[in-house]
This record gives sequence, C-alpha cells and structure tokens, in this order.
Amino acid sequence: MKNLKLPLTIDPRRSAQRRLLCEGYFELIGLDRLLAISEKASEHVNVKMNFDVDEQGLIVISGNASTKVSLTCQRCNELYEEKLEVEFCFSPVKNEEGAQHLPSDYDAVELDENGEVNLRDLVEDELILAVPLIPKHKLEDCSADADTTWGKLPEVVEKPNPFDMLKQLK
Ligand SMILES: [Zn+2]
Repeated sequence: MKNLKLPLTIDPRRSAQRRLLCEGYFELIGLDRLLAISEKASEHVNVKMNFDVDEQGLIVISGNASTKVSLTCQRCNELYEEKLEVEFCFSPVKNEEGAQHLPSDYDAVELDENGEVNLRDLVEDELILAVPLIPKHKLEDCSADADTTWGKLPEVVEKPNPFDMLKQLK
C-alpha cells in the first residue's frame, strides 16, 4: 500500500487484527487548522501507519508523518520552509477513563461513535504540536544573523531636492 490517499477514519480493531500497514498521504486541503498557522504548505502529508495488537491485547497505532509548511522567520521576517516530522504511538480508548489506564508509552486517541479513529485529525494534531513556537531559520540560512546586516539601516538614496535644483537654475 504505497502512495495511497489514506482514509479519513478507520476501524482500529479490525485493522490491528489484520496487522495493517498503511503508507500513503493526506491532502493538506482539509487540514484547516494546520493551514491556518502556515503561510504556505506543500500539498501532501506523507504518512506511515502500523496497526497492531500488543502483548497486553491493546490496539496500537504507531507510525510517522511528515510535511512541509512555510512559516515566517521571527528573526528576519522572511518566509522559510519548515519540515514537520512527527512520530506517534496511539492506543484507541472509549473515553477519558480508558485513557487513564493506558501504559505511559501510548497516547490515547478517542474512538468516535462508530468505533473508528479519525486518522486525519490525529495526524493533524501531531503536526500542529511540531510547529515551532517561535519559527525561525536555521542560523546559517537566516539573513538577519550575519553581522553585517544585523542592526544596519537600509541605505538611503539621496534624492536631489527639486527646490535646490530650481535655485540653481535662477
Ligand atoms: Zn530568518
């Protein structure tokens, strides 16, 4: 299963019993919350997800996701591209009580009323958490970092004063 558009929701129990491995993508259109905090974004989020049952009988959804978004560098105010990469390990629960009983290695993801997990929301949540609080270029790429530009005023081009020029004509 490669480069497939992934389903938005999935039944984790059935997928875990089949030891399903999903490899594919979500279109970024639809990930409104992530789009709202980025200036521009690539079209896809690449996702790899593995459904399994652990030795305690818990369903495990593990995998990773990556995408690129454009953010405004807080140092030089220019757009730059940030690669977001996340890894996750979830176990579906019915409610908050279930979440409290999970081993600490797992994050809880709540099942919806159909017993399914919203994969796209799950991935989007993780990606949003990966967006830096203060976005900035890598030091070597940031134009504000070089000593020569730091604190330098923009060059003022001196325009001849038109009144002075008139005076000269008289
Ligand atoms: Zn910068």
